Amino acid sequence: MSNNLFFSNPQVVLQEVPDELSLAISISGCNLGCSGCHSSETWDKSYGSELTDTILRNLLTKHKHISCLLIYDGMHNVDRLTELLVIAKSFNLKTAMYTGLNVLELELVNLLDYYKLGKYDKQLGGLSSTTTNQRLYKVIQPNAIHQYNFQSKQWNIVHT
Ligand code: SF4
Repeated sequence: MSNNLFFSNPQVVLQEVPDELSLAISISGCNLGCSGCHSSETWDKSYGSELTDTILRNLLTKHKHISCLLIYDGMHNVDRLTELLVIAKSFNLKTAMYTGLNVLELELVNLLDYYKLGKYDKQLGGLSSTTTNQRLYKVIQPNAIHQYNFQSKQWNIVHT
């Protein structure tokens, strides 16, 4: 059986990762069930198309102007996510991930420049809300972490 993840809706986005022009792709199979999720159709693991190495390479080749690959979800298959991030790095791209989880495996953090944690809660609002439970981090390898403040539009050191 294929180890590939399925994806949908590749699009270039400006605001999701500050200071980066990102190609965002939504990986199918999220099982967190956030109330108010705007993409519940992607909860089905086989929604969309199979994301083979070749398809990812073609997408990254086609979008030469981007600076970052942003992946939404896919945490049910960390091994495959790791392979996809390695491909993005081979294109000299920054890498970012949005997940509803509250922690990420170190093997993923080691391949990421940015990551967002926390389930979506429509009462608290998304990342830019003053009441949000979600956090966006920037990884300064090897081990410093900065957190983005959407009100001041600045990165603040949270761990060195
Ligand atoms: S983590 Fe994202 S995709 Fe998954 S249920 Fe929550 S909002 Fe939807």
